[in-house]
Formats: sequence, structure tokens, C-alpha cells
Amino acid sequence: MTKPFDLLIKNVRLVRPNQDDIQTTDIGVKDGKFARIGPALATEMAETVYDGRGLLAFPGAVDAHMHVGIYRDLAEDARSESQAAAQGGVTTAMTYIRTGSYYLNMGGSWRDFWPEVLRRSEGNYYVDYAYHVSPIESGQLAEMEYLATEAGAPNFGEVFMFYGSHGLHGRSDNQRQWLMLPDDDEYDLAHFDQICRRAAELQRRYPDLAPYIQVSFHCETPELLRAYEKHVCDAGVLTGLAAWHTARPPHSEALAIAIVGAMAHAAGLRQVNILHITSRAAMEAALTARAAWPAVQFGLEVAAAHLLLDTTSDCGVWGKVNPPIRTPEDREYLWQKVLDGTVEWIITDHAACPQGMKAAADDPDNIWLARAGFGGTEYLLPAIFSEGTRRGLSPNRVAELLCWNPAQRFGLHHKGDVAPGYDADLVLLDPEAQWTIDPADSLSAQEYTPFAGLSGRGQVKQTFVRGHLVYDNGRIVGRPLGVYQSRPG
Ligand SMILES: [Zn+2]
Repeated sequence: MTKPFDLLIKNVRLVRPNQDDIQTTDIGVKDGKFARIGPALATEMAETVYDGRGLLAFPGAVDAHMHVGIYRDLAEDARSESQAAAQGGVTTAMTYIRTGSYYLNMGGSWRDFWPEVLRRSEGNYYVDYAYHVSPIESGQLAEMEYLATEAGAPNFGEVFMFYGSHGLHGRSDNQRQWLMLPDDDEYDLAHFDQICRRAAELQRRYPDLAPYIQVSFHCETPELLRAYEKHVCDAGVLTGLAAWHTARPPHSEALAIAIVGAMAHAAGLRQVNILHITSRAAMEAALTARAAWPAVQFGLEVAAAHLLLDTTSDCGVWGKVNPPIRTPEDREYLWQKVLDGTVEWIITDHAACPQGMKAAADDPDNIWLARAGFGGTEYLLPAIFSEGTRRGLSPNRVAELLCWNPAQRFGLHHKGDVAPGYDADLVLLDPEAQWTIDPADSLSAQEYTPFAGLSGRGQVKQTFVRGHLVYDNGRIVGRPLGVYQSRPG
């Protein structure tokens, strides 16, 4: 006789978003979905039973901003970095991808690019996955409809506002070649304006999809970066993270955010996402833009790295990222905005940059020569739980910031909560277990981390994806069973 549940997890303290309390309960799973939540469910009712006594049960986190496949082959990167995701309590990995150098190293039509993205992803992720795609070439503007209506990828980005005349890593890159731009194309504000207009047009044409048709911006302006970088470099006084922060000043972010607001408003675009806000200046610009252009809804995102590190951190070039790690004052201000509910979701911007690529071989401490970006999805839930609760954030609010809010924003309506009918994505976390970050313990292929030495409390013990155990006490179990998530789901 078949039993009512495939899996029963007993005696957990369940942390749900949008609730004020944490209740001790049992969780029954059937066919990959939560089937029943309640106390004292009989062990005979399930094929497999876990005892979660003493553990908190969170919904699986949605890391809505990653860059799987940026520096290594997509299939290979998906294998290792989705293991890292499971380690960090992440059960849905959403990658911002684009044509051009890195990723698939191909330009041209999305009708060729997109099936290849799916082909390389299939069977390689240990957690569920989705993509956001950034229009780079003008020819891709007409294909936004295809992405939104056929591919299930209605959020467009990340729009890299600083790429126009400035490289990903600083001054050295040749942008046109690097983005594989056709001769007549420019990657500039006029192109970004067209993206907004096309997205707004799609919102009008597809009212049911309209809430999910969004444009996501990386807000920094190339002209200011170029000038400040030259100034800081020529002066030769600052080094390390302080140099990088000063070379890419917060008001460059603020200016870019104001431009996004004006463009979105003029286009009639209803939703934009302001990605990885790093500073007081940038946050205040976003709030000013909200007030100035009320018809535009601004999604406000913060990256874990900007909450965990600042310019006094000891990580040197390993912490080089765009936008930069900011001052301790900015970091504290961001936490205030997490605590007061202004920040809507927290992500990692995970971009595993192998050690050999990250720093220049002959000058490893040179911040100007290092590559930007690093991973961190393996620390998402433990680090935000630990730092957040220490500062007064409730575990339920952690579940909103990491699970419910990003799932809602990006159309994953069957994820982000633990309730009957939702995908059985679940993380068991020991709130008392102490940790100190050591890259040797990470399942990511990155080999180093700017977070090395940080310590805290609250360790992920088990991660389940749709009822399947994928991560168990430090190791991956089973096979890569991640499924592509077409949105809205
Ligand atoms: Zn990013």
C-alpha cells in the first residue's frame, strides 16, 4: 500500500515568511510538494523519516542573482556552483547571463544562444535553476518577446550601465570586441532606453505577464569611473579595497539610478530592479527615484558581500567586485535598511572566479589588475541568518529576504514558503552550530574566498530540493536533479 508521504521531517521549528512566530511541527512531503504541515504526524505514514529536533526549517533560498558559467564552462560551473548553492541553503539558482565573451563565448541571435544555455544546463544542476538574459546586441531587442513568452525568462538584465566605455575589470578591456557587438551597434544609454521601451511594450501586449516583465540594472556610470579611476591610480596613495571604492564612487551609482528612473518613467515601464545597492548614496537615490516616479516600481536588492565586508576587511584583491565593497558606514547603513524593511531581497552575485584568474600572476596584490567578482552562495543562509539575527532580524524576516520576496518578484510562485502545494524545497539549519569560514570546506570550485575567517552561528545541515535530499552535513548526495524553472511558474 502506498503511504501518504514519501518523506516526513519531524520535530522541526518551522520558519515561515510573513509570520511572527516559529512553531514546532512535522512536515509531510508527497511527490515533491509539501503535503501536510502539522504536529504529531505518524512515522508509519512515510517511506522515509527524518528527525529534525533542535533544527530550524527554512524554505529553500532563492539566490536570484548569480553568474553561473561566467568564468568556466557553463555545464562544469553548474555542477560545482550548484553544489555550493545547496551548501548555502539555496534551492533555486538564478543566473544573469548574456552573449559575448565569457559564458558561452558567442554573439548573435538568442534563438541560437538560448537553446544552447538550456542544453548545457540540463542534468548539471543540483538545485533548480533559471536565467535572466541581458540584451546586448540591437538585434536581440526584437527577441525580447521570445524570451518572455516562449523561454520563460521575462526579466531582462543585468543591464551593465558601465560597460559602454569601461571594462568589466577596469581600464584594460576592449568593449566592442569583448561584447561581440556588431559594427553598427553601441552599448550605451540609447540602447538601455530601447530595452526599457521594448519591455514596456511587452507589458502592454501581455497583461498577464506584465508583473514579471522587468529590467534589472547594474547602476554605475562609465564616465565617472574612468575619471576617478585615473585620478586614484595617478595619485598612487590608496591601495586595495579602499582604492577600488574611491575609483568607483557611490555617487556614480546614485547618478545611474536616477538615469534608470527617468528612462523607465519615460518609457512607461512599470518594473525595474536596482541590483546590488552598496551605499547610502545609492540607496537614497533609489528612494528619491521611487518618490519622483511613482508609476515605476523599483525592486531594491542588496548583495550579501556588501553586508559582510567593508573597506577595512582584510581580504585585499580577493574582495574586488563591482560595485565595490564600501566603507564601514555604508555597510552599517545597508543593515539599517535591511532591518527597517527597505531592502527587499538579498542575493550573492555569485561569480566563481578561479584563483588563477582572479589575481595577476606577477603582481597578485595589485587591485587594478585583479578580476572583479567572486562566489559566496555557499554562505548565503548561514551568514545572513547569523549577522541578521545578531542585529535583531527575526528568522522569519530572513525567510522573507532570502526566500519569499525573490520568489514572488521573479514569478516562482510555487517556491519560497513551506505550505501545502509548494515545492518541497527545505533547509534544516542548526541555529547553535558555530562556524568559521575556510575555503577548504566550500563545495565551490573557487578555492579562495574574501569571506575567509568570518565566523558566526547557524549551520546548514540538510538541503532538500523538491523533497530530494541533495546536501547532507558537508557533502552532496544523489545526482544533479535541478529542473529549469520557466516563469511565471
Ligand atoms: Zn551581477
